[in-house]
Amino acid sequence: MEKFAETIETVRKKMGSRLAILGHHYQADAVMAHTDIRGDSLELSRHISGLDAEHIVFCGVYFMAESAAILRREDQKIHIPDPTATCPMADMAEAGRVRQTLDILQADGRKIIPLTYVNSSAAVKGVVGEYDGSVCTSANAETMLSWAMKQGDAVLFLPDKHLATNTANTLNIPKDKRIILPAGVIDGDPKLFINPDNVKDKEFIIWPGYCPIHEEFQLETVETIRAEEPDAKIVVHPECDSSVVDASDGHGSTTFLIKYAKEAPAGSTVYIGTEENLVKRLAAQYAGEKTIRPLNVSLCEDMGKTTEENLAALLENIDKATPIDVPDDIKAPARLSLERMLEVCSR
Ligand code: SF4
Repeated sequence: MEKFAETIETVRKKMGSRLAILGHHYQADAVMAHTDIRGDSLELSRHISGLDAEHIVFCGVYFMAESAAILRREDQKIHIPDPTATCPMADMAEAGRVRQTLDILQADGRKIIPLTYVNSSAAVKGVVGEYDGSVCTSANAETMLSWAMKQGDAVLFLPDKHLATNTANTLNIPKDKRIILPAGVIDGDPKLFINPDNVKDKEFIIWPGYCPIHEEFQLETVETIRAEEPDAKIVVHPECDSSVVDASDGHGSTTFLIKYAKEAPAGSTVYIGTEENLVKRLAAQYAGEKTIRPLNVSLCEDMGKTTEENLAALLENIDKATPIDVPDDIKAPARLSLERMLEVCSR
């Protein structure tokens, strides 16, 4: 590993400001050690156009590199060390199926506003942009859902049913006005079953996707910790099931979880329900001062696909590497959907 670390640092030194390496909070420490900027997916993408760098390496999963490619300047190139690192939740919403669902839902003349979590493909963001919708993050989901509810007759939220439910609970959207679209598999092909009679009076229609990593957090674990360590605090990411979120002491984005750990009093114990690389890093950062523990062992395999080895291999040939890009017919509406979010959140 030392050999790869050396290669990475040699290339960084040689390229100077021509290169920027960005790392998502869920990356392993070995990769994070070589990054210039750390953050969540949107924070990192927002940095892109302000960077001098010609080559920007995104250590994360594919949809994050795509978001960066949507927001990049013409003279910038976006790279990802392992393009097979996808997000299983993002893969649960395919653009053609999203378009088809919107057409079915709008067949009765209602205006349905799509709101997609940033964890979705560029093609999905493009469809959302075309149908007058926007994007949200776990940090601004409440603001964006409140906005979307005012733009039409109903909202289609995708792909994460848990973020949708937790946000709807916070905003007190009545349960009888919501529906999670039933899903199934026919001949190996995932299907949604949309019965017009069941959706016609719903104001909040939810795509049935989820993050397999955050689904592993269970209410029983929270209850066991409550019984054994009544003074410990428990905070979780809103990609967790609502039973876990409701039983926790707080929930929010990775930025919220990092701040919670920072502000926890000395001597306290905090259990954090999110991807384990971030929790392990916080535990090491505050060791000896407070105790930070993972609610469960829960590593995202796709985030783990970025290694020092493939980062070094990319950097050694970066001038010849094919950058990640998004076709213009997708980029324009996808950018529009992102810009709507930036505009709403800047008010
Ligand atoms: Fe996707 Fe979940 Fe992995 Fe994040 S942790 S990249 S949402 S599968």
